[in-house]
Amino acid sequence: MTSPGPRLTSIRCAKALTPSGWEDNCVIELDQTGRIAAITSNNAGATDLSLNGIVIAGLPNLHSHAHQKAIAGLTEHRIAGQDDFWGWRDLMYRANAQLDPDQLQTVARYLYTGMLQSGYTSVAEFHYLHHQPGGDPYRDCSELSARLLEAASEVGIAITLLPVLYCRGGFNNDPVQDTQRRFANTPESYLKLLQACDSLCVDNPDRSVGFAAHSLRAVAPEVLSATLEDAGSLIKDAPVHIHVAEQAREVAECLALNGVRPVAWLYDQCDVTDQWCLIHATHVDSGELDCIVKSGATVGLCPTTEANLGDGIFPAAQFLTDGGRLGVGSDSQICTCPAEELRLLEYVQRLSLQRRTVMIPDDAGSNGRALITTAISGGARALGEKSSGLVSGARGDLIEIDHEHSEFASRTPDQILDSWIFSGPNNAVRNVIVGGRHVVRDGIHPLRESASGPFRQVIAMLNNA
Ligand SMILES: [Zn+2]
Repeated sequence: MTSPGPRLTSIRCAKALTPSGWEDNCVIELDQTGRIAAITSNNAGATDLSLNGIVIAGLPNLHSHAHQKAIAGLTEHRIAGQDDFWGWRDLMYRANAQLDPDQLQTVARYLYTGMLQSGYTSVAEFHYLHHQPGGDPYRDCSELSARLLEAASEVGIAITLLPVLYCRGGFNNDPVQDTQRRFANTPESYLKLLQACDSLCVDNPDRSVGFAAHSLRAVAPEVLSATLEDAGSLIKDAPVHIHVAEQAREVAECLALNGVRPVAWLYDQCDVTDQWCLIHATHVDSGELDCIVKSGATVGLCPTTEANLGDGIFPAAQFLTDGGRLGVGSDSQICTCPAEELRLLEYVQRLSLQRRTVMIPDDAGSNGRALITTAISGGARALGEKSSGLVSGARGDLIEIDHEHSEFASRTPDQILDSWIFSGPNNAVRNVIVGGRHVVRDGIHPLRESASGPFRQVIAMLNNA
């Protein structure tokens, strides 16, 4: 596989969404690391690329398990007594039990080309598959992590790798099950893994590393706090992610054993700051919601996966009104399109509240644009970025929406964004730039087709295993 091309230094945009609104005919200048150096108007100079459509910042995907792409769509057959999240989890464990490093890289390479074509330009990989099938460690503890980084670099998506700490089989300190042995580390072996992953990311502007604990089921809060402290400078300013309160059963178990709900327990026991990203946080009461807003933590929502697994409904509209920050992720990979995630995010809130246009923090404006800017800013923060959107210092990640598409005829730029989210075609994204590299051209990633054959072979092997 060939790597993406060189970084561009200047891109002319006919219409680009900046914090001050739609800018006509501006030039985005990029530095050597692919970050935005300046955005200038009235600039008649030559540029490396001209984009004539509607240009917005790329969407960060704040929660991905690449390996789950291998079973996307294969868990819809009802099994007596297992038609819930926990039954799905057993199927997922079994299907992924044999995945080897080459197969993981093949799956991730194909997956990431699809994300890019849909408008995701960066991905937080919440990676918990660490060891060999059976559970013995690889000689290199970062073997599988490295494969995800390689896949991302091959196709040109920016990646924040979140190696996941997984210590136990449940709230009651149960040992890990056989199907969880590939995930398990002690805090000591985890810190070695984190160090190894950090070494693989250093000096690469399109890679970064963060800390993740799988869940409070899998990591006791005192172990989480101690490991975070021991990680020290390795994760200074880095994001910290955790699955929390996804399932009602998880809340009930936590209440029964600890006398407190999971999110409240997390805030009691750990110093949750604005570096944190709480994945799902589905089941929260008003006090817990308030804690999250005050801490500045991001909530990571994965609407299609949460709907697919019957998780429940996070009070997202209320959270935004209260000043909370959120973003979206593809999680189980049943959907890798940010527009679809945002559409479902909005619709679930509308169904729940029996109102329309609910995810706009302001009194008025474009619902689609509000959803997109919320997801860009929350997602970037969850990936450890200090700035986001089309501003100096942010990553040079852009997507161009095809304003000439028939579905977008006679629409203003805001109406095009509304139409992309709420009625848009799947092929609305025309060009994608990541860190200044032009990775999707005319809607197609150049490696999509060559990544597809090996992906099909892996799926065939896994299904026949
Ligand atoms: Zn997840």
